[in-house]
Amino acid sequence: MAMDPKALWTMSYGMYLVTARAGGRANGQIANAVFQVTAEPPRLAIAINKENFTHDLIRDGGWCGFAVLAESAPMEFIGLFGFKSGRDVDKLAHATVRDGLHVPLVVDHAVAVAEARVLQTTDAGTHTVFIVEAVNAEVVSGAAPLTYAGYHARKGKAPKNAPTYRGETEPPAPPAASPASTWTCGVCGYTYDPEEGDPAHGVAPGTRFEDLPDDWVCPVCGAPKDAFLPD
Ligand code: FE
Repeated sequence: MAMDPKALWTMSYGMYLVTARAGGRANGQIANAVFQVTAEPPRLAIAINKENFTHDLIRDGGWCGFAVLAESAPMEFIGLFGFKSGRDVDKLAHATVRDGLHVPLVVDHAVAVAEARVLQTTDAGTHTVFIVEAVNAEVVSGAAPLTYAGYHARKGKAPKNAPTYRGETEPPAPPAASPASTWTCGVCGYTYDPEEGDPAHGVAPGTRFEDLPDDWVCPVCGAPKDAFLPD
């Protein structure tokens, strides 16, 4: 039997916003590899890329929080926490934050939130697996949770630091495009659809990509217009 990575792409995951605080700094990031491993006591495993700012905050602070994201979480919100680094942006300043005992918890678009103490860390190569025990947990809304597959079906691809990142699997888009075509962000995979426009940023439905203002940026990751290719 050969090693076919596509076999692993069929696996199911949720989407979580993991938060942490240490040394006066706090941050949050999107993670899909968050899962409960024992019920009593309630322990979970959380895999975080070593390059991420949140990784260091969990390691140094010894605590983390997480929110189970709702299916309705907008791409812009996921993009803020999934495609930008907390070293550059104070992400939590753009969110509704509730103070937990040890870490901030983001309640926007949350189905549930929990706070957990780090019991053990395992070096998994590019990622550290934190074994944590939940000490506080609360259902925030009765909304349906977002799945990793559902997120991919909606838009884009995984950020490159996700444990399940698949790299560039699609050939580059051809340069020719009809005037009213969709355009896709080369950084995060967000697709601009002229029929929808970008009403949250003052772009009316029916606006062609070519007619977007020069300073328009990707609503998900903040990349400039020239990072987009026609579909
Ligand atoms: Fe983008």
